[in-house]
Amino acid sequence: MLTCRELTEIVTEYLERRLSLRDRLRFQMHVGMCFACRRYLRQMRQVMRILGRMPDVPPPTDFREEMLRRFRDWQGRARGLPPAKA
Ligand SMILES: [Zn+2]
Repeated sequence: MLTCRELTEIVTEYLERRLSLRDRLRFQMHVGMCFACRRYLRQMRQVMRILGRMPDVPPPTDFREEMLRRFRDWQGRARGLPPAKA
């Protein structure tokens, strides 16, 4: 079983379909049981979708880095919350 931390480390690979079948299943199993990670995955999907739409317009330098940095901050704050009820 993945921990929430492990899940956040491989979420990009998951969304880019770069995980092995085994890791993919472990990922989905965790998301199915963990409300916090479900919410996290949903937000990550939105970020990826937004970033995916950018290529036609040259993004400001460091835009992606800035987004990722903000997201990591948000993630850190989310970790400080008590665990979601099962
Ligand atoms: Zn989790």
